[in-house]
Amino acid sequence: MGPDYRLSRLITHSIRRHLVGSEQRWVFERPPQDWAPPPIERTSLYLHVPFCRHSCPYCPYTKVQYRESLVEPFTLAAIAEVDWWADAVGPAEITSVYIGGGTPTLALDSVARVLMRVRERFRLTGDICIETNPADVDDETVRRLHDMGVELVSVGVQSFQQEKLAMLGRDYAPDIAERALALLAGSDFASVNADIMFALPCQAAADVIADLARAAQLGADQLTTYPLFTFPYTAVGKYLRLAAVRMPDLRMRQAHYRAISGWCAQQGFERVSVWGFKRGTVPRYSSVTRDGYIGVGPGAGSHLSDGFVLNTFDLSSWTGAMRDGRGATALRMPFAGEMSGWWWLYWRFYDTRIPLDDLDAALGNDAPKARRWLRVVEQAGFAVRNGGRLELTERGAFWLHLAQNYFALNYVNTLWTQARREPWPRAVAI
Ligand code: SF4
Repeated sequence: MGPDYRLSRLITHSIRRHLVGSEQRWVFERPPQDWAPPPIERTSLYLHVPFCRHSCPYCPYTKVQYRESLVEPFTLAAIAEVDWWADAVGPAEITSVYIGGGTPTLALDSVARVLMRVRERFRLTGDICIETNPADVDDETVRRLHDMGVELVSVGVQSFQQEKLAMLGRDYAPDIAERALALLAGSDFASVNADIMFALPCQAAADVIADLARAAQLGADQLTTYPLFTFPYTAVGKYLRLAAVRMPDLRMRQAHYRAISGWCAQQGFERVSVWGFKRGTVPRYSSVTRDGYIGVGPGAGSHLSDGFVLNTFDLSSWTGAMRDGRGATALRMPFAGEMSGWWWLYWRFYDTRIPLDDLDAALGNDAPKARRWLRVVEQAGFAVRNGGRLELTERGAFWLHLAQNYFALNYVNTLWTQARREPWPRAVAI
C-alpha cells in the first residue's frame, strides 16, 4: 500500500468520524445466527447475475466464467433468495429493479424466472433496468427483454475504438458495439444508456468525445461516463496487466472531465449525476442512488433501514446457503446515529443536487452540522444555490468524482477484497 493510499485513508477516516460521529463502527461483521432483516414497506431490488464469458482485466465485480451447467443452480438459488427476503421483510412494494452483473444477457431465461417470482412475492410497481453486453444483443435479446417487462437498458460499450477495447480486454469489435446500441435504441425501450470510459491510458479527450458523439448518433439518450478505476494494491481484478501502461495524470483527467461536460451541455445532454447525462424527458437510468434496496445473488449488497448487509461472494457458498434455506448474508454493518441520513446526503452529492428542504427529515439531529458543511462547500465555489436546491458546479462535480474514486479505493476495495478471499469472513474493517 503506497503513501497515496494511506493518505486518502487518513483523510476519509477523519472526515467520516467528524461527520457521522464516533459511535458509528465502520466494521462489517458476520451477523448473529438469529439475525433477520427489519420489515420493509417500499424498497428497490438488485439482482446480480455473476456470469461472464471472459474476465476483463480491470473489472472488480463478482463474476465467474460462464458455464451452462451453472445457470440452473443459480436460478433456483435466486428464486429461493427472493422467497427468503419476502418471508423476512413482508410483501413490500418494489419501486425499481436493477439487473446487473456479471453479464445478465448470458442468462435471460434465468432472469425472467427470477422476475416472475419477484412479481409473485412482492408488489412490483417500478421500472426494470438491465445491463447488456454488446456481444449478446440481437433481435432475440430485444424480444426477451420486452417480454419480461424491461423498460430501461444500458449497454456497456466502453469505447468504439478498437485499440481501447483491446487494451480493456473487451471481447467485441467496435462494429458489434455500434450494431448493439443502434438495435436497442430503435427498439422502443423507455431509455437506452451507453457506458463510455474515460481517463484510459493513452486516451486523448478527443477520443472520448468521438465515442460520446458516436453513441448519441446511434441513439443513446443517456450517457454514463466513468474513469478506469485504479484498484492499485490488491488482487481485485487482474488490474496489474494494465499497470505497466502510464495512467493519465490529474490534469489529463480534469481535461477529459471538462471536455465531456462541455460537449454534453452543447449537445443538450443534461447532467444527472457526477458521471451521468441524459437528453430529454426520458426516465433516469441509474443503478446506485436508490435510498434502500435488497440484493439477490452472490456478492449482492442490501441497504436496509438499520444497516448494510452483503451476501457471500462465493457462488457455490451462496447457492448452498440458499438451497439449505439459511440465507446468504455474510457480513453486516449496523447504522449508528444519523448514518443513514449521511448516506442519503452522500448520494445527493452524487446526483449533484441537494434538496435543502429534505435535510431535516433525512439527517435529524445532524441537520445543523450538515448545513454548516454545505455552507463551506458553497463558499469554496463547489456548489451554488438554485431555489431550494444546492447544485454542484463543474469544479465541485470534478472534485467529487475524485473523492468517489478514493471512496472506491478505500472502502469498496477493502471490503470486496476480503469478501472475495473467504466466503464467510468474520469481520472486515473499512
Ligand atoms: S466488465 Fe463486465 S463483462 Fe467484463 S468481467 Fe466485468 S462484469 Fe464481466
